[in-house]
Amino acid sequence: MKVKVNQDACISCGACEALCPEVFILNDEGLSEVKEEKKDTNLEGELKEQAQDAIDSCPTSAISEVKEEQ
Ligand code: SF4
Repeated sequence: MKVKVNQDACISCGACEALCPEVFILNDEGLSEVKEEKKDTNLEGELKEQAQDAIDSCPTSAISEVKEEQ
């Protein structure tokens, strides 16, 4: 699973970074972003579960799964 953040929707609550700090980081503007080294990573196992928790916990649904084009 790959994930992305819609920064227009992010309200800087920090939940995603708290739940899944290996993938999400709040940038200098306080907006969440996927860490550079994880942008093209297919998240698996525990990391995938953490990322899913972040998706489910984001109050504004700013995080979503990147669907691969077929
Ligand atoms: S959980 Fe959602 S609103 Fe909160 S910092 Fe992360 S992306 Fe932004």
